[in-house]
Amino acid sequence: MTAHDAIHPDPQAQRAPTFSLCVYCGSKTGHSPEFAHIAIQVGTWIGQHGGQLVYGGGRNGLMGLVAESTLAAGGTVVGIIPSALVEREWAHDGCTELHVVDTMHDRKRLMAEKADAFLALPGGIGTFEELFEVWTWRQLGYHDKPVGVLNSLGYYDGLMAFIDQVVNQGFMSDWQKQLVSVGSEAEPLLAQLVEAAGFSPPARLELL
Ligand code: AMP
Repeated sequence: MTAHDAIHPDPQAQRAPTFSLCVYCGSKTGHSPEFAHIAIQVGTWIGQHGGQLVYGGGRNGLMGLVAESTLAAGGTVVGIIPSALVEREWAHDGCTELHVVDTMHDRKRLMAEKADAFLALPGGIGTFEELFEVWTWRQLGYHDKPVGVLNSLGYYDGLMAFIDQVVNQGFMSDWQKQLVSVGSEAEPLLAQLVEAAGFSPPARLELL
């Protein structure tokens, strides 16, 4: 398969998505079952509001749960995975579109292009790297799309305390910190990001 080949068109996806949200999250589920619950809540919200999920294209961990729950709620899922990770991350052939790309750089660029906003859920170094990349791109003006962090169970408290230290020590300005919206509850943060991306407050599909 060549890079950027899209496969598996889904009849459900013929309606244009109302917004496109890129979700970065763990390729593991973490120890607390609450993390899985949150990933399902996020995917369900995207699907119920007619949205499109853009994500790393795997079936494992929170990544797979967000994708499954978006699809189950009637949403569109665009998975983007480097060819070298197709087996390791168990590429999700149920995606509305699955793009197999050559490199990690291609993956992250395409994910960013296809999204109107970005949201990081709990995850590991892959998630951190993706979050920091879109954060730094935003501060440099490479894009102006909203970036959010879902601080479920206080998972990111330590990181946010460190960011405060970075500001206090003069290595970062407050405006740079504020380029990222941090919230502990999924639904208000999701609505905030979608609205900040320029979309009307999304309605649940059954209300449309
Ligand atoms: P993790 O949060 O470590 O479980 O990884 C979540 C996702 O981030 C996985 O799909 C990784 O392939 C992806 N990822 C993106 N960029 C990187 C990177 N530079 N190093 C490791 N993983 C990455």
